Amino acid sequence: MNRSNWKRIVVKVGSALIAPNRQGCSSHYLLSIAQFIVRCRSQGIQVVLVSSGSVAAGAHQFPDHSKKNIAVKKAMAAAGQTEMMATWDRLFDFATAQILLTHADLRDRERYVSIRETIFSLLDHDVLPIINENDTVTTDKLKVGDNDNLSAMVAAAADADALIICSDVDGLYDKNPHKHDDAKLLSWVDKIDEKIFAMAGGAEEGGVGTGGMRTKVEAAEKAVSHGIDTFIINGFTELSFNLMLEGQNPGTHFQAHEKPMKENVHWMTHTSNAQGEVVIKKAFTDSLNDSVDSLTSSEILDVKGEFSVGDTILVRREDGQKLAKAKSNYSSCLLNFISSEGNQKFASEFEEKTGPIISEQHIAVLENK
Ligand code: GLU
Repeated sequence: MNRSNWKRIVVKVGSALIAPNRQGCSSHYLLSIAQFIVRCRSQGIQVVLVSSGSVAAGAHQFPDHSKKNIAVKKAMAAAGQTEMMATWDRLFDFATAQILLTHADLRDRERYVSIRETIFSLLDHDVLPIINENDTVTTDKLKVGDNDNLSAMVAAAADADALIICSDVDGLYDKNPHKHDDAKLLSWVDKIDEKIFAMAGGAEEGGVGTGGMRTKVEAAEKAVSHGIDTFIINGFTELSFNLMLEGQNPGTHFQAHEKPMKENVHWMTHTSNAQGEVVIKKAFTDSLNDSVDSLTSSEILDVKGEFSVGDTILVRREDGQKLAKAKSNYSSCLLNFISSEGNQKFASEFEEKTGPIISEQHIAVLENK
């Protein structure tokens, strides 16, 4: 790995490192992480920290309650977040800043751009941004749900060169290391495919060896497609951080794509949600090689959902297969009107004046996701 090129990194720390016994925060494991951050900064590398742990840190304030009760879980997050921030803050002699986000913030382009600007501004002033999901306000519809995926979205938003995900095992193994003595650590992954996801295991079974190895691989997939080298390392051992500082790889290194997606295409593919869909006539999609780079109303078979100008939409084949995510330059209402029978003449004149239905630069071809 070429650490000398790193200008900015994102470090993701999970709840087990913050509140190992669910009895409030402990700095036991955080000291070596904090030292790593300090040493990176002294080498001129900007750091953004994505820290979980608010629920685990706040749980001890609600001894008679289970986190299965959503309202109590949100209260735990609210109480634990301040405790967690205070713990991190004590470990640094420079300023820290708290940013709490939801998926609803990240998938809205205006808010996303504002988040990026805030992160850049904090980094320019040597303040360490500490980011978590805003658990008290999220609902199923609004949340990212796990901080691994959140850290990849943040790494993309921050234009990071590397994402370091601290786990409780050394990295990704070819099989569950807790069940198989001969499980081998994969030190390098250049392509994240089905086989790699199979090694990570399902979400419910907690992945190969630890909770959430699957979400870590999902995060790696998002980050590498933005040109961000991603590492899963053991956050419980100081050695991992010392090796990283020496330019060595202590865990699994997911290699960044050489030709990363453009920032806006990456955001559309991995962060934004489609607000609606357009279905393309078979005759038109038959002539395509799995991509679509322009679209006219005469090629549209159906418009689904309600969306406005500028929203992200899914472009589908008639057989239901996803073809692309794109920025719609037309509202669903207008598209319904101009693609209806009898309106062709008006539509072609209108499109000539108004421009393409979807913008070419916003098209992200989907590999059937
Ligand atoms: N946002 C949650 C918390 O701070 C953690 C989510 C996760 O563990 O991925 O407790």
